[in-house]
Amino acid sequence: MDKKITIAIDGFSSTGKSTLAKQLAKDLGYVYVDTGAMYRAIAFFSMQNGFIKTDYLDKESLIKSLPNIQLQFQFNPDLGFAEMYLNGENVEKQIRTIAVSSFVSKVAEIPEVRSKLVEQQQQMSKDKGVVMDGRDIGTVVFPDAELKIYMTASAQTRAQRRYDELIQKGDSVTFEEVLHNVEERDYIDTHRSNSPLVKAEDAIEIDNSHLTREEQFKLVLDLVQQKLV
Ligand code: C5P
Repeated sequence: MDKKITIAIDGFSSTGKSTLAKQLAKDLGYVYVDTGAMYRAIAFFSMQNGFIKTDYLDKESLIKSLPNIQLQFQFNPDLGFAEMYLNGENVEKQIRTIAVSSFVSKVAEIPEVRSKLVEQQQQMSKDKGVVMDGRDIGTVVFPDAELKIYMTASAQTRAQRRYDELIQKGDSVTFEEVLHNVEERDYIDTHRSNSPLVKAEDAIEIDNSHLTREEQFKLVLDLVQQKLV
């Protein structure tokens, strides 16, 4: 039987983790899991249920509601990757808005939220052959992953990428808003006490500020091949 591995990709927001993870999953015939989508779905659920008011998150109510939150990925053959379903509803569009982005890191700080999602994520790689991206994949979810990648790029570069994406989708945001959101999430994600974003000791760091998608993909595919021999 072909050898299969677990690939963990961590890094700051908008470093192109999901683009790389999707390319790898497609090429290798692996399952891609976007863990950010799971945290985003919980942030969206909190908005829908009135747990988020202006600048305040009602953590108690969210924690009490966690058993009522069902998250599921369903593969969309037209897109070539799985989409996020929240309690049976496809929420791919709703979870990518700047409103969700501005609250998601606060939701992701809650230990009860993290343990629920980490447990689900660990279940998903029982049979290997998984590419998972997030913030704590190589450190907490799969400390034994065969290949760990840690992606970085300057905040300006990342904000520009996210801004272009949002504008293309028809969102009306300013570059400053996006940059502020990227920097704020960087801060919260690296400073939270529970599973902060850190480079795993055995992760390979890739700064892709000056790499094209293809260059980056080739580089990582080479690393994968080395693990498969
Ligand atoms: O990857 P993405 O930018 O969609 O993730 C959204 C947010 O979810 C991150 O800024 C972070 O706060 C949280 N997250 C996390 N742990 C993960 C994945 C995402 O805390 N494994």
